[in-house]
Amino acid sequence: MQENILPRPSQPAASLSTLSSRVLGLANLGLAVIDSKHRIVLWNQWMASHSGLSASRVQGSELFELFEDLRGQRIEQAIHSALQNGTAASLPHGLNRAPFPLYPAGTWGGERMEQAVSVTPFTEGKEKYCLIEVSNVSSTMGRERQLRVQAEALRAQSYVDGLTGIANRRHFDVALSRELKRASRNDAPLSLLLMDIDSFKAYNDHFGHQQGDACLTLVAEAFAATLQRPADLAARYGGEEFAAVLPDTDLAQAQIVAEAIRARVAALDVPHAPAAVHPNVTLSIGVATFDKTQLNDAAAMLGAADRALYVAKKAGRNCVIVGTPPDQPSPPAA
Ligand code: GH3
Ligand code: MG
Ligand code: MG
Repeated sequence: MQENILPRPSQPAASLSTLSSRVLGLANLGLAVIDSKHRIVLWNQWMASHSGLSASRVQGSELFELFEDLRGQRIEQAIHSALQNGTAASLPHGLNRAPFPLYPAGTWGGERMEQAVSVTPFTEGKEKYCLIEVSNVSSTMGRERQLRVQAEALRAQSYVDGLTGIANRRHFDVALSRELKRASRNDAPLSLLLMDIDSFKAYNDHFGHQQGDACLTLVAEAFAATLQRPADLAARYGGEEFAAVLPDTDLAQAQIVAEAIRARVAALDVPHAPAAVHPNVTLSIGVATFDKTQLNDAAAMLGAADRALYVAKKAGRNCVIVGTPPDQPSPPAA
């Protein structure tokens, strides 16, 4: 029917082979073809301008003689299996980032560009060939690495208290919940310390908030420096309150650690406000230890440590008290 008759295409302006070689010259990736004896038969303009080796210079050269450091690389295996078994391969960038000595244009001898390489076998007549495609992934990889570094910095920031530099509340929550799971799974001891600076409102009122901040930092540093084991976590729980997660630490050991922290902070000899209970800056500390039946989750352990802290305040401050489950009375101050 009339309407199905397509108009005759007009005569092409250039032959297909002229177009093909023009496209090869313009391609924004490296194209090389080798024959079954690994001799280079095609080397496009991109390869020439990034290697500094023109097509006429490399044509007929054996690929692995020209680029000796390709030997023993994944690309050598890929080319062998392409030519022998007809298998195509895309080489993961992570294994060998820059197999060919290719450089950003005009910077030969600097740092090689990072490359993604693929290898495709084909036959033409009776002859076997292998097409090697190379693309420049330097900027993609650079951006990826930058993003990873930024993500890591953000993650670190979101786990660190901005004022004191020790772990923040979020980090503490994550660590306590992780260690609780571990303690239940392994039937291992786990202790928690909650501590609060004594009469800190009076300190701020007397010395000002800025000096209050400096005092908080000093106390945090002394507290963190007392913890010895790599798995121990020193955190700012909030305001002028601190917390420690002590894995593999039973009640008796936790009391020793708590007492060491209390003594170290007192020994800083930071003068306190006249209205404070003690002449120097001190801490009160509540201790709680995991047990399978009652103090077996974060809320129960924090509740016990907080009740103990309250008792320590009532008992005159600057002391360590052990927390108990809700229905048991706390022991008197040591
Ligand atoms: P107690 O011995 O009972 O703990 O008395 P306290 O005065 O320490 O307790 P209170 O909770 O009444 O006051 C805590 C004070 O800590 C109040 C607040 O101004 C101060 N504070 C909390 N966070 C910060 C901080 O980041 N910087 C400074 N400078 N002060 C803080
Ligand atoms: Mg407080
Ligand atoms: Mg306080």
